[in-house]
Amino acid sequence: MVTHAQRVAMKGVPAFLLNSSRHFGTLRALNVADRWSFGDRASMVIVMKKGSSREDLARVTRAVEQLGFCPHVLPGLERTAVGITGNPGPLDPDTFERLPGVARAIPISQPFKLASRELKPENTVVRVGSKGIGGGGLFVIAGPCAVETPDQILETARFMKLAGADALRGGAFKPRSSPYSFQGLGREGLVLLAKAREATGLPIVTEAVDEASLELVGEFADVVQIGARNMQNYELLKRAGRLKKPVLLKRGMSATLEDLLLSAEYVLAEGNPDVILCERGIRTFSRHSRFTLDLSVVPAARGLSHLPILVDPSHAVGRGDRVSAMARAAVAAGADGVMIEVHPAPDEALSDGRQALLPQQGADLIAQLRAIAAIVTPKAEALL
Ligand code: PEP
Ligand code: MN
Repeated sequence: MVTHAQRVAMKGVPAFLLNSSRHFGTLRALNVADRWSFGDRASMVIVMKKGSSREDLARVTRAVEQLGFCPHVLPGLERTAVGITGNPGPLDPDTFERLPGVARAIPISQPFKLASRELKPENTVVRVGSKGIGGGGLFVIAGPCAVETPDQILETARFMKLAGADALRGGAFKPRSSPYSFQGLGREGLVLLAKAREATGLPIVTEAVDEASLELVGEFADVVQIGARNMQNYELLKRAGRLKKPVLLKRGMSATLEDLLLSAEYVLAEGNPDVILCERGIRTFSRHSRFTLDLSVVPAARGLSHLPILVDPSHAVGRGDRVSAMARAAVAAGADGVMIEVHPAPDEALSDGRQALLPQQGADLIAQLRAIAAIVTPKAEALL
């Protein structure tokens, strides 16, 4: 018997699902009335049998498309899976479980689907340069807040390469709190970053602040950074999802972990699987620090999502003398890497000089971080 309340909650659920008592049982089992009333759309992952054929996989993706939904093929080490998005309501597992080669069709309960560990139990490893982020090693991104001069970026890049950094950071487009602050060198900054990459071999990580800068950054960068202030710029996220470059997505300063994962979902849903999460501190009532570094998000993200997570202690603490302590804590907490700001002359920096480490301090820190990672991460790669 369907109650009036349930009918109201089910408004919009496809009729074919409501018209059969068997389907209604499935809907009840999924507690769909509750979920529907919150506007969530239960999605599904179809796990293929070990040894299923390419034809079986093609049949499944065709079936998903024929229903008007979007299939996402997720190759795994052991088996392939197909995630479904774009469905307006809950799906019946039986629709897919009766197809040849399908092991199981599992509903995903989280509001973020492609980002969820329910969909993909194994960690995503994002390749940047010759290393992977998320595969058990430690990935260190170091460099100035902003690209300022040819010497500044080249000197920093050379030093940090020798110190064992894995990538060079530096903003060419800067999202500054004040319109009167240095806004970055723009294209010229990207050219200088590319020269530093050429000289050192370090991949470059740099930020896009809007759709116009994303086009340019996409041409130059190895990793496109979306900053805290843009974490919920959904049009920018969709565009980043159409790039063929990894995206470093920083947590907004007042965003929950769920907000962050939903933002990651925007990028993934457009077909870009290479999203790296980054905790950079959130606003709290504490005044002793620029932001509060929420390290508890590292194990929490790991539980909910297969995406790698980095920590940026520089923007969180806002002071160079406190960066190293929190970077060490981040690695001990299991972060896949850190991003730290380093400047050859912090007192003269055009942005964020107060939180910059000197290159030698950055080098000493990297050595400590590798030692900590060797204890807490499963791979010997951390020692490299
Ligand atoms: C940055 O990394 O340069 C930056 C502006 O960081 P956030 O977006 O975290 O403030
Ligand atoms: Mn900065």
